[in-house]
This record gives sequence, structure tokens and C-alpha cells, in this order.
Amino acid sequence: MAQLSDDCFTFGGPMMSVDEAVRLIASRVVAVGETETVALVDADGRILARDITAPLPLPPFTNSAVDGYALPGSDLPRENERAFPIEGRVAAGASPHTARPGYAVRIFTGAPMPGGTDTVFMQEDVHVDDNGHVVLPAGLKVGANVRPAGEDIAQGHLALKAGQRLRPQDIALAAAFGLTVLQVVRRIRVAVFSTGDELVSPGTPRAAAQLFDSNRFMLIAMLKRLGCEVSDLGILRDEREPLAQALKRVAGAHDLILTTGGVSTGEEDHVKAGVEAVGSLVLWRMAIKPGRPVAMGIIGGTPFIGLPGNPVASFVTFAHVVRPTVLALSGARPAPLVPIPVRAAFTHKKKSGRREYVRVTLRPASDGALEAVKFPREGAGLLSSLVDTDGLVELGENIAKVEPGDLVGFLGYADLL
Ligand code: AMP
Ligand code: MG
Repeated sequence: MAQLSDDCFTFGGPMMSVDEAVRLIASRVVAVGETETVALVDADGRILARDITAPLPLPPFTNSAVDGYALPGSDLPRENERAFPIEGRVAAGASPHTARPGYAVRIFTGAPMPGGTDTVFMQEDVHVDDNGHVVLPAGLKVGANVRPAGEDIAQGHLALKAGQRLRPQDIALAAAFGLTVLQVVRRIRVAVFSTGDELVSPGTPRAAAQLFDSNRFMLIAMLKRLGCEVSDLGILRDEREPLAQALKRVAGAHDLILTTGGVSTGEEDHVKAGVEAVGSLVLWRMAIKPGRPVAMGIIGGTPFIGLPGNPVASFVTFAHVVRPTVLALSGARPAPLVPIPVRAAFTHKKKSGRREYVRVTLRPASDGALEAVKFPREGAGLLSSLVDTDGLVELGENIAKVEPGDLVGFLGYADLL
């Protein structure tokens, strides 16, 4: 486990901006550094641990980009069409073949270019005459319809960088190099607890004033999408000592401890005192809505994050605090959330000086542009507001008002993870 100092999340100011939080995490959290080898089919979403330089050029040999006829550039008709006798036939996968000058070679997509040829006529642009000769039009450029060896990637090129979160296309590239396994960072181990006397797990009886715990399942799903190995540790009661002991117990075996609820400053919010009993903690008052109180701490050298209990606040702060922490623990290259511009179809007033996230649905406007429609209600406890929308409109610290027609930045839910 990476060991962090007790004061590593200390922050001087009264309110922390989202960007400051992301920067502080990126600069303080230490990558676990341990790696493992996985088969390509298991590599999606994992963090590449080593640079990969191309062991061969791509494509590895010069080949035809189309079905047609191959010739040497020096034979191409210049002024008028010309008939060529056909000799040879090269399909994809065939061994290399040498062309005879004055002849056209029948060739198919992906087949190696016959020796002596460098240009391919598409079969759609030619016809075969009564003598069985192929009639080629004038004017084709030398080298047309050919994919030279290395045109995609040159041998020795730094093709995939360590820290890359592997996507299907990255895995395709590794396969194209003939690799069968990849060295990746081991999964980040995260312990997840909910806190609150009002919570019960689905599947257990619920008293009248209790709720089924929903955040824990949301957070576990989010962590799994980030490639984490999650320990689901259930619900902690609002009681300092057992809470403290439970957190302490799991610290050694995990890279991150995550809780939800109990981080406000009410009498029944015991996370702060609990963490302080076994480690150290700072309450970040983040300039973010929904969100605000987020706890960051260290228990036995292991980072601790306490997210707010309201489901929407928990969801939004996850993206800005947990996601960068998990990425930093895994040594991933920073992956800033980049909102895409859409048009607002709503009015919204906000306090300047803090970042706000508005839950929205996208719809095409009459001119084809996308516009964002705000969910009609605002409460941070409304799960329906996350379920029935497509993503979040990010309103920066300097914005005080949004009017219909304003360009605003949109983050789709899938992009938050
Ligand atoms: P807290 O941050 O503990 O004061 O909780 C704020 C609100 O979120 C309260 O209404 C809680 O009942 C609710 N809440 C806290 N934790 C969860 C959870 N795990 N699942 C659903 N709601 C929660
Ligand atoms: Mg609570």
C-alpha cells in the first residue's frame, strides 16, 4: 500500500474550488506501483503500466486498399484508356508475387502488392473486354489505392504510453502488434461503507423510519467502472467508536477507504470524530453544488474519502474527488472531465464563486443543435433526477445566471467515470 503522511490533504483556505481539489489529489496521492499481466481480452479499462513501442510497422507489408488490378506506375495510361492482359491473381493472405511488365495483376483488398507494382485500379473503375483484357482509364495517380507498410505506425514508434487507461482501440493496437498480454497496474482496492442509523440493506426488513441504502450500490458500481476491486463492507451505525474501529480494521488491506454520509457537522455526523480517533482528517468545504462537505483523511497511511450522504451530492463529488484519487493511485495519466458545448433550454440562477452541476436531458433543437433541458426539481436527495436525465451541465465559478440559448458545458454520465 502507498503510505501517505497524515497532513497530506490539509488545505488552508475556507472554501476549496473543484480544480484545487483535483490538483491537490493529483499532487499528494502516490501510485501503488504494483503491476500484473493480463490477457488482451481482460485488459479493457485497465491502466497500462509500461510504454509500448511498435515492434513492427503497421501495416506490416505494403498492400492493396481495394479489390482491382495492380500495375507498375510506369505502365499507367496517361492520355487514353488502355487494355492490359491479366496475369496473376493475389488474394489477401497470399504469398508475395512478382508482376511481369506490361501485365495487370488481379488483386484483392489486403493482398500484398506484387513486386514491381505500386498502383491499384479499383474494379469499379475498369472493365474486362472481349479479349479478356482489363481496360484501364487514364489519369490515375501513381501509388493510388495502396497502403504502404508503416503508413499507420512506423516500427519503433511510441504507440501506447504508460498510464493510458486502455480502451478497445488501444487493445486492438496491442493485438495488431502481435502482443498477447499487457502489463497493467493492479486493481485499486477500495473499501466501501455507508453510514447512518436510518439505513438498512436491501433484502433486510425496513422499519417505518428507515431507508434502503442506495448510495453504497451506486458507489460500488462507479468504482467497478473505474476498474477497482471493491470490498462491500455494509452499513456503519452513527456511533463513533465502532465506526472508528471498522475503518482502522480495513485500512491495511485497501488502497482507499470510501464512506458516504455523516460528514456534515451535525451532532449525528460521526465520521469526522471516528476518523480522527484512528487517523487524521480534514473536512473540505468544496465550492460545489450539489456536494459541499467532503472529508479527506489518512488512516494508517491509507487515503480516506467521506462523501456526503445525499445521493446526488455523493454522485457529483465522486466524479471530482474519488475518480481523480483512483486514477492517481493507479498512476493513470490525469484525465480531466471535458464538458462539450450544448445550448441551454433553461433559466438558472446561481451563486458566483462556486461550481454548480445541473441535471439535464439532451434533445435536438429545431436547427439540429443539441439543447439541454433542466430536470424540473433540484433536491440533492432526488434519485429520479439522476435516473431520468442524461448528464450534468457544468456551470463555472464565474457564472451567475444562465438564460435560454446560452452555450453551456455538458458532461454525459458515462464520461464521469
Ligand atoms: P448525511 O450526510 O448522513 O447527513 O445524510 C444526508 C441525507 O442523505 C440523509 O437524508 C440520509 O438519509 C441520506 N443518505 C445518507 N446515506 C445514504 C445512503 N447510503 N443511501 C441513501 N440515502 C442516504
Ligand atoms: Mg447520516
